Amino acid sequence: MHVCVLGGGVVGVTTAYFLAREGHRVTVVEQHPEAGVETSFANGGQLSYSYVAPLAGPSALHHLPAWLLSKTAPLLFRPRLSLAQWTWCMQFLRHCTTDRSRQTTVEMLLLGAYSKAVMNDVMLDEGIDFAHSKSGKLVVYRDPVEFEGAKRQMEFQAKFGAEQSALDAKACVLAEPALYAVGDKLAGGILTPSEDAGDCYLFTRELGRVAKEKYGVDFLFNNRVHGLIREGGKVVAVRTDSGDVNADLYVLALGNGSSELAADLGIRLPMYPLKGYSLTVPVEEAHQAPALSVTDLHHKIVYAKLGQHLRIAGMVDMTPTDSHVDAARIELLRSQAAATMPNAGDYSGAQVWTGARPATPDSKPLLGKTNLSNLHLNTGHGALGFTLACASAKLVADTLCGRSPALDLAPYQLAGRNVRRDYRKLGSPNLALN
Ligand SMILES: Cc1cc2nc3c(=O)[nH]c(=O)nc-3n(C[C@H](O)[C@H](O)[C@H](O)COP(=O)(O)OP(=O)(O)OC[C@H]3O[C@@H](n4cnc5c(N)ncnc54)[C@H](O)[C@@H]3O)c2cc1C
Repeated sequence: MHVCVLGGGVVGVTTAYFLAREGHRVTVVEQHPEAGVETSFANGGQLSYSYVAPLAGPSALHHLPAWLLSKTAPLLFRPRLSLAQWTWCMQFLRHCTTDRSRQTTVEMLLLGAYSKAVMNDVMLDEGIDFAHSKSGKLVVYRDPVEFEGAKRQMEFQAKFGAEQSALDAKACVLAEPALYAVGDKLAGGILTPSEDAGDCYLFTRELGRVAKEKYGVDFLFNNRVHGLIREGGKVVAVRTDSGDVNADLYVLALGNGSSELAADLGIRLPMYPLKGYSLTVPVEEAHQAPALSVTDLHHKIVYAKLGQHLRIAGMVDMTPTDSHVDAARIELLRSQAAATMPNAGDYSGAQVWTGARPATPDSKPLLGKTNLSNLHLNTGHGALGFTLACASAKLVADTLCGRSPALDLAPYQLAGRNVRRDYRKLGSPNLALN
């Protein structure tokens, strides 16, 4: 079977890898000269398998007015005359109920746990080097009310296999001494020892190399996809810069490029790009970089040590999405990080990056079939694309190969994803959390 994977980010490359490993002929079409250089390039680097609660939840509703009014809030909203933007916002608000957020949390925990297991297999099988560490993760809270909410969330997640513990402020600084400067500002933290970190770009590049050299994947770089050609109920070709590519099956993994191409086929994907920023800060011996991955929930900033660098990422901007780096937002990220971890690295030597999370309103990726018989989705991973890439790719590849996937794809499919399910019966994901 010939499968054409559209998009060479972390999601497209992992999909190509699993399909080629099964013996299929695979072609990846990517507009850039190499894999992993768009949203997968300099993201937060956290493999956040257990910290998967959706952005849409009762606490987001609570914070929204303050976020919208403050210039130093982690969320920036610039309203546009855009149906896509307003539709996305309305859908987001609809998902902010406790019940929906709990169901989504369990569905995402299942995906996260499976992703960890699949990622571990990939690392064992291929031995790729991507600055991976079994760092563990500490999420710190500055607001006592928010910390109480986080403890309730922890208790809820424990029923579904997540192993986490709550620490008071002093214990947070003991667990992660790089937080010494803000010890007196913390209400507490949630520690998840099973979380990992790694460089998403290196992972994508190296897995792409393995996919090509070991399993024969054909990468068509410098090729923009201009459209999919449809005949009847199926796709017959992909129109690219270097001509049409014909395949038996097609996987749409274009990140933020997915919705426009899908819309041309009459398929509406509930996705919107949420812009963020990162700093990659050099770390030398004299510095005190965090050994744990850290998330500072108040500022919504994540920290992960990747080899000799500290990756600091944050900001959720619903603004025009281009590669423009907003100097004020970067300065805010830099100053908040430097106040939180003053000696974590050489902030003056930081490399600056911006990218946009391909986000769905409920935070769940879009996986599996569409109403065109041979077009499948693997997109919409939002803030967790690196974390969930292995699970999504394996599930989609297994479906395409006619095998039963390890998880039911229904909660992540375009059709039926909003169906209420009894999340208590969705099963325990603890198969992979250690
Ligand atoms: C600031 C920030 C921090 C983040 N932190 C984390 C984190 O800590 N952990 C985590 O798990 N996730 C994180 N994420 C999310 C993660 O980076 C994304 O979910 C993930 O990279 C999405 O991967 P993708 O392959 O779907 O998209 P991409 O990496 O964008 O890949 C899509 C590819 O399709 C190509 N493409 C698009 N349109 C076309 C076209 N028409 N023709 C040809 N090619 C096309 C693009 O060039 C691109 O290479 C973060 C994101 C941001 C912005």
